[in-house]
Amino acid sequence: MSYDPDNIFAKILRGEIPSTQVYEDDDTLVFMDIMPRAEGHCLIIPKSPCRNVLDASPAQLNSVIATTQKIANAVMRAFDAQGVTIQQFNEAAGGQEVFHLHFHVLPRYENVKLRAPGQMEDSAVIAANAEKIRGALAEA
Ligand code: 5GP
Repeated sequence: MSYDPDNIFAKILRGEIPSTQVYEDDDTLVFMDIMPRAEGHCLIIPKSPCRNVLDASPAQLNSVIATTQKIANAVMRAFDAQGVTIQQFNEAAGGQEVFHLHFHVLPRYENVKLRAPGQMEDSAVIAANAEKIRGALAEA
């Protein structure tokens, strides 16, 4: 399967559609999921194109995992979480819906289930949660 440069995350990277961004460096971008399955649910992507783990280069994987660890620690602090779930899906049969490599970071609490998928969150709530993560990153 080849990379489709018109996937939603490629459009976010090019600034063609809006996103609520919380962090970026030379190689990675982090923004809020618009249908969060937990408060503070965000997505980490490489800035360079690849579909998923199956075609990513070692350099892309290294940079995305390093940023995922940074954001996982930030959401622990930002949301006073008890744990973090990191999800990553590969190809449609593996549960992937957007075909640009991404890792989900989800703050978690004992006995609190993830929300059902596909539910849009209010943009003001997403903006407030992004601000909490930015604050935690700034304090690190
Ligand atoms: P996956 O491909 O890992 O199954 O899931 C893709 C994720 O992208 C979903 O959690 C979905 O809510 C999120 N998503 C889909 N479209 C958009 C969008 O336009 N903006 C943002 N920020 N997230 C999106």
